[in-house]
Parts: sequence; C-alpha cells; structure tokens
Amino acid sequence: MRLYGDPVLRRKAKPLAATDLLTVPGFQPQTVREVADAMLETMFEQRGVGLAAPQIGLPVRLFVAVEYADDEEEHEGQDKPLRSRVLREYVMLNPVIRPLNKKKDRSYQEGCLSIPGIYEEGVARARQVRIDYTDLEGQPRSLEAEDYLARVFQHELDHLDGVLFLDRLPDDVTSDHRAELLKIQQAAKTYLTELTAWEKRTH
Ligand SMILES: [Zn+2]
Repeated sequence: MRLYGDPVLRRKAKPLAATDLLTVPGFQPQTVREVADAMLETMFEQRGVGLAAPQIGLPVRLFVAVEYADDEEEHEGQDKPLRSRVLREYVMLNPVIRPLNKKKDRSYQEGCLSIPGIYEEGVARARQVRIDYTDLEGQPRSLEAEDYLARVFQHELDHLDGVLFLDRLPDDVTSDHRAELLKIQQAAKTYLTELTAWEKRTH
C-alpha cells in the first residue's frame, strides 16, 4: 500500500484501456483484470470500501469499490471474511462523475487506506451522482449512486487526480494529526527506499 507522502498519490493518473498490460512497481506485467482482482483482494484484506490504482503505485485511472449488504457496526470486532457480505463489487476504468443536483453531505466519517488510522467527518461530497466509466470488457457503462456509495466513488475519483480527503478539510485538521502523518510519511519513505533497492537488484 502506498502511503501518505508517496509522490505517486499526488500525480494525475492517466487514462487506460481494458486491453492494456499494467506493471505495478515490484511486479510482473499484468492484465487490467488481474490488477483489479489483486486490488479487490487488498481492499478486503485491509477492510476498505474502495481502492484506487495510485494507492498500489500505478498512476492509471482505475479504481475498485464495494457495497456491503449490511452495516459495518453489526460486525464490529469480527474478523469474518468481508466477502460474504458483498452486495456488489465495482471495477471502474476512466470514471467521470457528475453531481445530479446541488445537495451536499458532510455527515459520514471518511478514512483512507493510504492514511491509516485517521478518520474525519466534514468532507463535503455530492449526495447524488451519476458515474460514467468503462468496465473490464471495455464497454461503456453508467450508474447512479447516492449517500455513502456516492461518497466512496468521489473519494476514489479524487485519488486519480492526486487529491486526498484531508485536502478537502481545513488545514487545522491536518495540523491536528501532524505526529501521526509524520509517522506515515516516514513509512512511505522506507517503503520507497526498499522498492528502489529491490528494483536495482532485479534489473
Ligand atoms: Zn483513499
């Protein structure tokens, strides 16, 4: 997992085609489907609701997300496989989001697998959105989402533009978490150093 402070999280990701071969740093080239499957796996392992390609070091416009059949609260503290509760999985290439109206919502708590341990309310997101994207077969698709799922899609789309949820909150929120963020940045640095060393050994 690429962490806060890693420059790949700040790049604007590039469009991709369903037929592309992708090379995640540290791995062999893979099809988009293989990468998407690995991303879904990682997302479930880390108990996330979405994961964007830049978060695994791949600056392309791809994200995965999931909708669960019931509330997280009911299962709190359980380490049961999340997959049993999946209502629907989403894999989106080149997504474009449009708000359906001016209604905004700030009530949900937001977190990010690249900023572990930090959760904040107050990020204003459109309540109802339409999202156009390409699926794994290369077919154009479109759907409407609201509330929590709409928020997840907007959070993941932000990742493709190099934006993190903390950017959408007042600066003092980031300041409040300065110590934790420094630790995460340090871990990001360590990971990149190891990755560079690994790449030197193997090439
Ligand atoms: Zn995130």
